[in-house]
Amino acid sequence: MIRFLIVLLGILVARLMWLQFTKRPTQPRVTGRRPRAEYGGKVVGCVRCALHVPQDRAVNRRGKTYCSPSCASAGPATG
Ligand SMILES: [Zn+2]
Repeated sequence: MIRFLIVLLGILVARLMWLQFTKRPTQPRVTGRRPRAEYGGKVVGCVRCALHVPQDRAVNRRGKTYCSPSCASAGPATG
């Protein structure tokens, strides 16, 4: 019985050492879902269709913000 426990302990220690050996230096992060807060930039709304886009992708024309060049050429929504 003691021998069995020693063998079991040896397997456990070997497994732990193997896990330590194979562990990557950087912890792998779960990248399945990205929260919106992870986007560092500002999000702006289109004055025509109210679609929200990152500010670096938005189109600015005459002081107004649009989601795309097509919205920018159409102009702001009226009414
Ligand atoms: Zn738009």
